Amino acid sequence: MIQVGLMGGTFDPIHYGHLLAAESAREACGLDEIWFIPAATPPLKDHAPHASSEERLEMVYRAIDFQPHFRAMDLELERGGTSYTIDTVKSLRELYPGREFSFIIGADRVNDLQQWHQIEELAELVSFVVVERPGVTMDTGSLPAGVREKLQRCEMPLIDISSTDIRARRGAGRSIRFLVPDKVYQFIKRNELYGS
Ligand code: ATP
Ligand code: MG
Repeated sequence: MIQVGLMGGTFDPIHYGHLLAAESAREACGLDEIWFIPAATPPLKDHAPHASSEERLEMVYRAIDFQPHFRAMDLELERGGTSYTIDTVKSLRELYPGREFSFIIGADRVNDLQQWHQIEELAELVSFVVVERPGVTMDTGSLPAGVREKLQRCEMPLIDISSTDIRARRGAGRSIRFLVPDKVYQFIKRNELYGS
């Protein structure tokens, strides 16, 4: 079985925290491939993405360009609407029967896991590879046992970068250079995303 780690997110924009989380999970869990899957409408965010679906996907492509183990998938964008991970995982299992999937999440997402759509059913289909995020204390105490036992911790160098902070920096006219890969940086500048 080919082992695939799914990296879901809004990627608004993609940054080095996402890439290092993916690479750390790949190495620690012996994953063959990582698939980056930008969400159309993220279920638990209280605002719509700032950049368009096309722009977010393009930034993902630029970030993973020439990385042999990384791949971008537009199935959530194509499906449109609210992007529930359970729907994505079910489609992928049908489309790619020779692969086994796990789902990579940062510590902040562990804390809202209980609110994910059909989380217990999802936890029967995938395990979660969990990476730390600076300033986030994980609380797994209130998760159902079936979910908690599917969490697999994975070490990564702590990276204090978030898309929210990158957007705020752009809004304030501050630099985001070296927080994102250069090709993403050039794209954001050229298209005047998140400010100018
Ligand atoms: P936003 O601030 O808009 O929520 P974000 O930086 O959290 O953006 P998302 O697209 O929301 O990025 O996150 C996608 C996935 O990547 C989530 O599982 C999140 O926990 C994880 N992630 C994002 N940034 C980091 C980071 N710096 N370290 C570890 N994991 C991260
Ligand atoms: Mg986030």
